[in-house]
Amino acid sequence: MGNNSYPSVAIIGGGLSGAAVAFHLARRHASATLTVLEPRATIGAGLAYSTPDPAHRINVPAAKMSLIPAEDRHFVDWISRTHAIADDPEAVSSNGEVYARRIVFGRYVFDHLKPWIASGRIAHVRDSVRAIARAGSHWSLQTASGRTLLADIVVIATTHPAPEVPPILADGLKDDPRLIISDAMTVSPLSGIEPEARVTIIGTGLTMADTVASLDRRGHRGTITAISRRGLLSRPHATVPYQPFGQFDQSAPYSALDLLRKIRTTIREADALDLQWQAVIDQVRAQASAFWPKLPETERRKIVQHLRPYWDVHRFRIAPQVQRVIARRRSEGTFTSRAASVTAAEANADHILLQLRTRGKRALEEHRTDYVIVTTGPAHSRAVEVEPHLNSLASAGWIRADGLGLGIFCDRQGRAISREGQAVSSLLIAGPLARATFGELMGLPQVTSYAQEIANQVIQELDRMRMVGQPMPEQFAKAR
Ligand SMILES: Cc1cc2nc3c(=O)[nH]c(=O)nc-3n(C[C@H](O)[C@H](O)[C@H](O)COP(=O)(O)OP(=O)(O)OC[C@H]3O[C@@H](n4cnc5c(N)ncnc54)[C@H](O)[C@@H]3O)c2cc1C
Repeated sequence: MGNNSYPSVAIIGGGLSGAAVAFHLARRHASATLTVLEPRATIGAGLAYSTPDPAHRINVPAAKMSLIPAEDRHFVDWISRTHAIADDPEAVSSNGEVYARRIVFGRYVFDHLKPWIASGRIAHVRDSVRAIARAGSHWSLQTASGRTLLADIVVIATTHPAPEVPPILADGLKDDPRLIISDAMTVSPLSGIEPEARVTIIGTGLTMADTVASLDRRGHRGTITAISRRGLLSRPHATVPYQPFGQFDQSAPYSALDLLRKIRTTIREADALDLQWQAVIDQVRAQASAFWPKLPETERRKIVQHLRPYWDVHRFRIAPQVQRVIARRRSEGTFTSRAASVTAAEANADHILLQLRTRGKRALEEHRTDYVIVTTGPAHSRAVEVEPHLNSLASAGWIRADGLGLGIFCDRQGRAISREGQAVSSLLIAGPLARATFGELMGLPQVTSYAQEIANQVIQELDRMRMVGQPMPEQFAKAR
């Protein structure tokens, strides 16, 4: 990678984050060769936006999704220019907002990368990275196909590791094919489920909702029981359009409890003005990067441990089309959600037997089912441990897990923080793996804004390298 005149930037992972970093670098004419290493055939879609299942929709109105943060209508305009939802009348909800299929957003991102790839400005290497090490003044990347590539700056944008199967299910059901792991990496694991089968879903978040919508679309009519410790389901979108409301960046909350109080007070103020709670939660999201870093680590940990389940269901809202399916199934008596824990699991010839404990109760009960689907999502807390390329960096001390179980520790510029506590200026963490530093970095608006900031940071680092005459990525900047 690279040639004699330009330093090289290797972006590992070509999902939305990696694609957006490459896009912003190319647009800003960064003087570097740009390579995206991504095993998928195209870049831009990643895990979230490559699903071909028509039941899988973006949970955010199209008007809030844009590759270019300063241009709100960028995606909406692309949709109308390309007639991307012409075959999908259901995409438009009753209040006029568009909830496109997820794959449509993936196509939109790729459409904007295509010209740069065709011109050779961005190289897409279809390979996955297995190990990253220092080699003199470069980073050396080993790929799955046995290649070795050198780069001056590395951007990690691999984000979602595989889900972790709860040990009780893994031990009790072993490799039984009726235990299905919902992993966005694998294609349609639901196809073998019979229409009348009893299905139990572990997890009650958006992946559960997607799974119910997919089963329903495939003609499944049996009972579905969704279980999680608290049994909380994602909340709906506001019924009318709104602007974010409240102020969380100036008199910043100083503790988890203070944050909770401020949110509740602001929701009451919003209510008095006839504004729905969604306006307040959106403001918290937008301003989290201002107050989150000021919170002491103990308070951040309390938020992640105790408030996160409640935060997630208010913040990850369900697309109206998917919500309608859940509501219909509930009223037909074929969908129930429960707050319970699975305490034992056993596979028999004609059914699976789960032992459940309802939240707050001591008694155990038996629950018979034909399939168990795990929808607990990617195991971010284990990313550094289980992903070989991250593990190679961690073993050499270049990165470390963030301590909150969200991903990789980095500073406010996205630079990895080494084992010795120093910022590694040529190793940047893009995407939601940097969440522990920014508080809120999973939904589209924050992910694309952050990708643009990472592109700025790469450009600064390229300038710095040019000023010192040659790439010197082994130099550390002082951690801030
Ligand atoms: C199933 C799902 C649905 C979602 N739906 C929504 C939604 O509706 N609205 C919303 O706002 N947000 C949604 N999100 C949040 C979403 O995570 C972010 O919006 C965004 O997609 C994150 O993109 P990413 O590129 O950082 O990660 P990813 O999508 O995980 O992309 C990472 C890429 O890295 C590649 N990769 C992994 N390991 C390697 C390696 N070793 N070498 C090279 N490449 C590698 C993978 O193939 C993948 O393409 C969803 C997330 C998921 C998982």
